[in-house]
Amino acid sequence: MSFVFAPPATVSVPVVGTTERFPVRHIYCVGRNYEDHAREMGFTGREPPFFFMKPADAIVAVEPGSIGSMPYPSLTKNLHHEIELVVAIGTAGKDILAANAHKHIYGYAVGLDMTRRDLQNEMKKQGRPWCIGKAFDHSAPIGPITPAALAGDITKAEIYLQVGGRDRQRSNLSKLIWNIDETIEHLSAAWELKPGDLIYTGTPEGVAAVVAGDTLVGGVTGLGTLTIRII
Ligand code: MN
Repeated sequence: MSFVFAPPATVSVPVVGTTERFPVRHIYCVGRNYEDHAREMGFTGREPPFFFMKPADAIVAVEPGSIGSMPYPSLTKNLHHEIELVVAIGTAGKDILAANAHKHIYGYAVGLDMTRRDLQNEMKKQGRPWCIGKAFDHSAPIGPITPAALAGDITKAEIYLQVGGRDRQRSNLSKLIWNIDETIEHLSAAWELKPGDLIYTGTPEGVAAVVAGDTLVGGVTGLGTLTIRII
């Protein structure tokens, strides 16, 4: 087959324990999935999960042991960090029951749902789509994927983000409003999940602004760390 121009390279993420890489298809993100974060955004209570997406080429894949770079994006004066557990899908499925969700998980990673908060807030106010606030270039830094078998039980793992060596976010995956299995059940009712899909599962409280020159170090116990510098 020939194309009218060279097709874009497949976006991929390194995998712990192998030189083979995880090719990225869709990036799904869960909104407001920790109660204290929902509250800091002006909402309360357990609402049904809701989703938005980022393009696959928003990924900034950080190789094991190295420091990634994210250019400070255009149009914003309020770039926020959102540290998140990322679930990597390895097996296709639709209408997956929570009880079967684990069969579809390839592994887990630490990710950042970087957000142009001023633009997102303006779109929210006008009832318009969030894309310009969420789905911009380089908006999805991610560390290496740890295969599920090597990650062990992460349902009570600590999740944190430090900026300049100081805590900004620190919580626990046990505080997810919709846990990993429930999220997969809801998501797969709306879209057929396929190998290569990533799910950013939502951020805990403490979201705040970063500026060029900041170094962000995020982690989930058992999944290592993600380090990225804003340039
Ligand atoms: Mn988020």
